[in-house]
Amino acid sequence: MSGDTLPPLREVIAAHGLAADKRFGQHFLLDLNLTAKIARLCDDLPASVAVEVGPGPGGLTRALLSEGASRVIAIEKDARFLPALEEISAAYDDRLTVIEADALKVGREALGLAPGTRTVIAANLPYNVGTALFTGWLEAEPVWWNRAVLMFQKEVAERIVARTGEEAYGRLAILTAARARARYAFTLPARAFTPPPKVDSAVVVVDPLDDEQRFADVEALSVVTASAFGQRRKTLRKSLGQAASQTGASAEDLLTACDIDPSARAETIAPDGFMALARAWRAARG
Ligand code: SAM
Repeated sequence: MSGDTLPPLREVIAAHGLAADKRFGQHFLLDLNLTAKIARLCDDLPASVAVEVGPGPGGLTRALLSEGASRVIAIEKDARFLPALEEISAAYDDRLTVIEADALKVGREALGLAPGTRTVIAANLPYNVGTALFTGWLEAEPVWWNRAVLMFQKEVAERIVARTGEEAYGRLAILTAARARARYAFTLPARAFTPPPKVDSAVVVVDPLDDEQRFADVEALSVVTASAFGQRRKTLRKSLGQAASQTGASAEDLLTACDIDPSARAETIAPDGFMALARAWRAARG
């Protein structure tokens, strides 16, 4: 049996009684053109293992396999999907392995990836855990993935790729810039999903920076950005006070050490400025 002989997704959903369950953020993408478009953004799938979070009935899974992924490791929390996913595995010569688990609790080790394997994370992420999963992957050391092609609600995608000064610019854009390069690939209207969610979605493509370029001290970066954006309407002299209070220095000291105007506001400072502040915070903390 080849992948092409699998029944259409709507039939799979009906045959297995797979009604979407809101608790698991289930909105299925059944349009084969769209799933193929996402799979192609993974690049070089025949030389890659794809790690998919939340395969559901398997639309994107099937696209990854038919675009030639050498293996797909799919992590699904809702056991109702396992029989449908087993049929896909059989149709694609067991190139699909399914792990029944909460992806938030699955570490790199559980994936059993051979060292040096090109690994792509591909997912139509459940809205309620998408950001937590993404920041976990961004912060992971060593970095075990070579590219991530991820669907988020559009507003989250905009926060990931936002540039300094834009309304969506904040902690997520800064963490992303410190660890990776991200680009906005395309928007999917809510009606592309079954059932449609309340908001539009978007796909982002993320490539991790090299070891020498990645900013390592994510804890310090998190402290300074939480402080600065926690009160984003205030000047940094005031808003950074909370982070500075954990050191022997004042907010003004930290800012002037980094050549940043203490009367500036957080959204006007580029990621490099926050990385400098994180270094200054760490040095002052000792
Ligand atoms: N990939 C499918 C598609 O594109 O049609 C389904 C996407 S649906 C938005 C999200 C999927 O993630 C569901 O299958 C849901 O059961 C699963 N899911 C939700 N939370 C999860 C978690 N914490 N770990 C693993 N899977 C999860």
